[in-house]
Amino acid sequence: AVLVRRQMRKSGRWAKAMAIVKELEDNCGTPITRLHHVAEAMTVEMHAGLASEGGSNLKMLISYVDNLPSGYEEGLFYALDLGGTNFRVLRVHLGGKEKRVAKQEFREVSIPPHLMTGTSDALFDYIAEALAKFVATEDEGSHPFPGRERELGFTFSFPVKQTSIASGTLIRWTKGFSIEDAIGEDVVGELTKALKRIGLGMRITALVNDTVGTLAGGRYNNSDVIAAVILGTGTNAAYVERANAIPKWHGPPPTSGEMVINMEWGNFMSSHLPLTEYDQALDTESLNPGEQIFEKIISGMYLGEILRRVLQRMAEEAAFFGDTVPPKLKTPFILRTPDMSAMHHDTSSDLDVVGKKLQDILEISSTSLEVRKVIIKLCDIVAIRGARLSAAGILGILKKLERDNVTTSRGQKSVIALDGGLFEHYMKFSASMESTLKELLGEESANNIVIQHSNDGSGIGAALLAASHSSYLQAPVS
Ligand code: BGC
Ligand code: MG
Repeated sequence: AVLVRRQMRKSGRWAKAMAIVKELEDNCGTPITRLHHVAEAMTVEMHAGLASEGGSNLKMLISYVDNLPSGYEEGLFYALDLGGTNFRVLRVHLGGKEKRVAKQEFREVSIPPHLMTGTSDALFDYIAEALAKFVATEDEGSHPFPGRERELGFTFSFPVKQTSIASGTLIRWTKGFSIEDAIGEDVVGELTKALKRIGLGMRITALVNDTVGTLAGGRYNNSDVIAAVILGTGTNAAYVERANAIPKWHGPPPTSGEMVINMEWGNFMSSHLPLTEYDQALDTESLNPGEQIFEKIISGMYLGEILRRVLQRMAEEAAFFGDTVPPKLKTPFILRTPDMSAMHHDTSSDLDVVGKKLQDILEISSTSLEVRKVIIKLCDIVAIRGARLSAAGILGILKKLERDNVTTSRGQKSVIALDGGLFEHYMKFSASMESTLKELLGEESANNIVIQHSNDGSGIGAALLAASHSSYLQAPVS
């Protein structure tokens, strides 16, 4: 009788656990009609954000980039790429139309976590130090114009209200950064002051978002590139807009007739988004409640954390991992998206990778195959929702540009440069994103749309823009 009762209790718990899975699956659903609604809402918000300052959750920031690289850029330029847990410093030798990027060197430096929530000076001093060390490794004589200051393109991957191509104030932090005294400051000014403090003479000639850098780097290699999307720790998109489609722009009309817009789509919000109780709780407890809702259900910083929250509830309410809730499971952000991805891609028959991750990260031992299978299912629900929504976002841009169907696009190719660790390493995510985009576009229109991986294009893009905005330029580059 005891055994029977135990068995019944167990199956009761299992049923409860499965009900939680089912509920998650329903609430994360992204049927194709819903995705079309999301894309439509994205297009509507794009219009609103372009119409007036503060007209939408989508900031649609003006980048001051009205000319993308031509290929004629020449000289030695530096770039600094800051936007996640690492930053990169790059040195790029641009060889002009024939030689192109003749040589490229970089160094990657990780940012100590305490600097992500400290003071502006501490962060920028740290970056300036790393930059100085890197500059010191420059070959004798490779700096071609003696007497000139070195020039740098600064990729800063947070929302910035640009005041020119080389200045802009920080609107707010995202992705786990929270440095109060930097908000509202000119980030180029902050970096320049830090460079002065250590005596490194360098001039920042371009300030760009990573999406804008990726767009520039993508265009340098392929003239059909019209937009760039980052799917990494955070997510965002930039694209080339017609200047006369930007009512809020009151500056001089650019001669190219075009302007790159940094959408800041991570802050997109719509009633069509499939949001769950886990998303709500994650948002409330985050560093930036109420902000970056699209980002919080799509990007690499959050997918693993959503999964952890679901598992915690299953442990608490359905004793999914036994009678006690594994203590580690209560630690926010302990389950990182790369670990989730590793579990999701486990193809071994007894799901060894899943078992090992549960053991190593959460200290949950000897899980059954059934439990492991459920975990794969959860990974799938959470990752596929994000992937499909990012495809809907891309469709929104294509619709805005009237490139989403063969008739209006008149057969033009539209290439979208993609980058970011999530896109690059989480294969089930990127495969789903791409197949969903095809599904949304329909076969005929999909033929004109190309997703192109633009590996680390944002750093090179910034160097290219630094070159085309060099203060030593006498004549236009092209
Ligand atoms: C930032 C964007 C950035 C994106 C990808 C977001 O959190 O707000 O500026 O482009 O992450 O790095
Ligand atoms: Mg890469």
